[in-house]
Amino acid sequence: MAGSHLEGRGEGDWTRLLAIDREQVWHPYGAIPAPAAPLPVVSASGVRLTLADGRELIDGMSSWWCAVHGYRHPELDRALRAQLQSFAHVMFGGLTHEPALRLAEQLVSVTPAGLERVFLCDSGSVAVEVAIKMCLQAQRSRLGPGRERLLTVRGGYHGDTFGAMALCDPVDGMHRLYGGAVARHVFAERPPDGFAAPLQRSWARHVEELMAAHADEIAGVVMEPVVQGAGGMRFHSPDCVALMRRLCDEHGLLLILDEIATGFGRTGALFACEHAGVLPDVMCVGKALTGGYMSLAATLCTAEVAEAICAGEGGALMHGPTYMANALACSVAGASLGILAGGAWREQVASIERGLRAGLADAREMPGVVDVRVLGAIGVVQMDHALDVAAATAAAVEHGVWLRPFRDLIYTMPPYVIGQEDLARVSAAILAAARASRAPA
Ligand SMILES: *Cc1c(COP(=O)(O)O)cnc(C)c1O
Repeated sequence: MAGSHLEGRGEGDWTRLLAIDREQVWHPYGAIPAPAAPLPVVSASGVRLTLADGRELIDGMSSWWCAVHGYRHPELDRALRAQLQSFAHVMFGGLTHEPALRLAEQLVSVTPAGLERVFLCDSGSVAVEVAIKMCLQAQRSRLGPGRERLLTVRGGYHGDTFGAMALCDPVDGMHRLYGGAVARHVFAERPPDGFAAPLQRSWARHVEELMAAHADEIAGVVMEPVVQGAGGMRFHSPDCVALMRRLCDEHGLLLILDEIATGFGRTGALFACEHAGVLPDVMCVGKALTGGYMSLAATLCTAEVAEAICAGEGGALMHGPTYMANALACSVAGASLGILAGGAWREQVASIERGLRAGLADAREMPGVVDVRVLGAIGVVQMDHALDVAAATAAAVEHGVWLRPFRDLIYTMPPYVIGQEDLARVSAAILAAARASRAPA
């Protein structure tokens, strides 16, 4: 059926549709009208996106961390089709179904020990909201009222809903736009850079002091383990995560790890907290959970946290979205976890890591580049200037690669199934984007 998308969808049609896009539709962090037209995608398969004009782009972004197995994966397609034969969705209040229960079982078995209670929800941000509620409800039940704040680190990203946004970096997250509507949490300085860096004494002391100073008003600690994603694509030492675990234990606080970006193999471990040997009390997963097919996320907690919540005032966890445990999403997530259980991701991610290290090495010598970093299937080139994003993106597209640079960062987290040749093209496109990224003076 190659080319069928163009039949009956002539140039004129896309001109009209793109006018709707420009005049009526919000895009992420977008303005109306948008400064630049987005690229219309008509199909996607493997690691390639096909545009309306017939061009093919290698997807260097996995649709924001999600499409780890590539597009139109036969097993994922099959899981969805099979579930459609039964039903697409039923309410989860008072009803239950096999896709949800099987997924919960799989999640408990693959996530770190101790995480045994599963809340299935509709997006990453909601998973973070649920994690906050779990933490506040459990601590209120155990320790009484008065602990309504959380401790987190600067440079983080946890989602765009108000509860999650309050945990994002206060500057990048534009908290000031919303004034007093954003909860005021306790922010520690960003963990020092470097996956392999030894734990920096001064940072450890800073966090210890901050936690001690606020210990009686905070319920827990929230962080992205090892990789800060949308907050700046930075890597920190697993020792920083281990320090947080130790301090939480000392002060009776809960540790919430946000693995929404890092989960399911992206950093080379199935979950990034494994690098630190840390077991969280609460963990959020999302993004790659469904292999990029549908919006689904989960918040897992320990039996102790669940018991505290249910022994508390409300006697229940107070959350329950309409599309909770959507059966289509659960079935495709189950299939995605099934593919991961096959174990091929380990060698795929390791091979992407080697490929990116080789492919991005030359960027170190380029003018304007301040850092090149690779961890697992994540490669980042950081520039010394705010990018001309349109020029950088266009340069990548000219190389046949889809990238979405932001701020001073050109980066990739390709689908695990990408081949070495395509990966080399992604690296070449990143270098081209870096060269093109300086706005004309
Ligand atoms: C993307 C992301 C979220 C938010 O997930 P959504 O599905 O976009 O709501 C939360 N935390 C982290 C670490 C993320 O990368």
